[in-house]
Amino acid sequence: MKTIIAIDGPAAAGKGTLARRIAGVLGLPYLDTGLLYRAVGRRVLDAGGDPANAETAEAAARALRPQDLDRGDLRGPQADAAASAVAAVAGVRDALLAFQRDFATRNGAVLDGRDIGTVIFPEAQAKLFVTARLAERTHRRWLELQAKGEDVDIAAVEDDMRRRDEKDSARDAAPLRAAEDAFILDTSTLDADATFRVAIGFVRARTGLS
Ligand code: C5P
Repeated sequence: MKTIIAIDGPAAAGKGTLARRIAGVLGLPYLDTGLLYRAVGRRVLDAGGDPANAETAEAAARALRPQDLDRGDLRGPQADAAASAVAAVAGVRDALLAFQRDFATRNGAVLDGRDIGTVIFPEAQAKLFVTARLAERTHRRWLELQAKGEDVDIAAVEDDMRRRDEKDSARDAAPLRAAEDAFILDTSTLDADATFRVAIGFVRARTGLS
């Protein structure tokens, strides 16, 4: 089997930065699976639909095209909420499963998301569950928004993040949780470089890749 590296965890824990860097160093393709749910949510909003409506959301997921992932409006509070709503629909997850497997099985891949190690690739050679305290994740997201010139209240950022994590963890369809064989990496007191050093050591040991 080609090398599959699964990186799961809650929002703003540092998964994306880490996954992209691991993929770069190991020469593997990278897929940010959150973008799939974001793009499905956007499609529903574009059509004036309700992202929580199972039928509408599943139809949007089945109609998803790779170019939908290149849209510039997949981030921000509205896209966050729409993604989280469509992600709770079992039919949506079902529709996106084949896309994720196809992407990764050809050449191997690093994928980040919520259910990569538990549902999409339970057989992945290396699984990381990247997490951090809510206050730390809130601060990081708030700094990102500030850098983009968005002056938002930090309490509102924390509230949105808490709500989204609770929804992702409590849903019946592929809830956010660490796989039993995942390495739990708490980045609360680690910067991106320190996180990378710990993670790449684990991944190299598990995969035999250098
Ligand atoms: O990772 P990101 O914050 O971009 O994900 C957006 C939303 O998509 C998450 O809050 C979650 O509801 C959903 N998601 C998911 N499974 C994945 C990736 C993302 O349910 N593998």
